[in-house]
Amino acid sequence: MTATAGESVTKPAWQRMLAEAVRDPRLLLDEMGLDHGLLPAARSASGLFPLRAPWPYIRRMRYGDPNDPLLRQVLPLDAEHHDPPGYDSDPVGDGDALQSGGVIHKYHGRALLVATGACAINCRYCFRRHFPYTEVNASTGDWSQALSYLAAETSITEVILSGGDPLTLTDRRLAALNDGLKQLDHIKRLRVHSRLPVVLPQRIDDHLIDWLTGSRLQPILVIHANHPNELDDDVASAMRRLQQAGAVTLNQAVLLRGVNDDVATQAALNERLFDIGVHPYYLHLLDTVRGASHFEVGSDEAITIQRGVSAELPGYMVPRLVREIPGEPAKSWIHW
Ligand SMILES: *Cc1c(COP(=O)(O)O)cnc(C)c1O
Ligand code: SF4
Repeated sequence: MTATAGESVTKPAWQRMLAEAVRDPRLLLDEMGLDHGLLPAARSASGLFPLRAPWPYIRRMRYGDPNDPLLRQVLPLDAEHHDPPGYDSDPVGDGDALQSGGVIHKYHGRALLVATGACAINCRYCFRRHFPYTEVNASTGDWSQALSYLAAETSITEVILSGGDPLTLTDRRLAALNDGLKQLDHIKRLRVHSRLPVVLPQRIDDHLIDWLTGSRLQPILVIHANHPNELDDDVASAMRRLQQAGAVTLNQAVLLRGVNDDVATQAALNERLFDIGVHPYYLHLLDTVRGASHFEVGSDEAITIQRGVSAELPGYMVPRLVREIPGEPAKSWIHW
């Protein structure tokens, strides 16, 4: 094998697995033993937003079940062409809040950096499925504009790496970003929002642990899991490694029709998270993004589910039910 200058000869295992993610609807249906009757819709809707699912995630799906809750999160359906009023391409007002270098600074004390547009998995309900990533500078690998914005805004104490999924970037680039951030005295915490520890837990390797937990910045990793079947033993070990290295680990989930819209599933998800040392942080109501309306669970039903979960679990296992309203100073809690 030959290597180009500056690149190591062997790529980490996770990069190979990332590249091997399934993008062909026919392959996914065949692997899951599903009827090709689903194929025309899957092909057509993947033109709106491509199919993408990594193997470690696919292996946790139930064979032969078209309603499997993990499959539903990635399989493109005809329903995505349906656009009821109120659904649009930027439901949370990110376009208005975008600063130079890919920084989204909406809330006091913390700023979110759109570090890349790439993801390991394409979730059909993603609120950024129409986000104009190519217009964002940080996505091109140059952190300087983002760093100068963050250097000038001394009220910011926490930087959130988001995307896309920031952990699709190489550790070399993430370490360079971390080096820049830790030189800004006002920044205390580095938070990473990522679905990779769940869908590709092999991503949590020595190199990642080194940059994430090796600086003065306090590390927080917020994962994204919506169903207990997503959290297998490989995910548990990845989370344990992060926790042992000193990272605080939290989960955010989205309440999704046909995936986790009942008390039993929510209770099992939160208890499983806690078993693997992850604190349930937020349960989001669906953002009204075009193409995702079939996942909607209304706020009344969400409250009923939340009450049921609260009646079953200790308070610390119940995430906050929230919704994002553009222009508000924080995520809005749904009270009952
Ligand atoms: C959700 C979000 C945050 C984080 O909010 P927390 O309540 O601190 O988790 C920060 N910035 C932006 C732009 C967000 O959308
Ligand atoms: S991993 Fe996150 S950013 Fe990527 S498609 Fe899924 S929800 Fe969207």
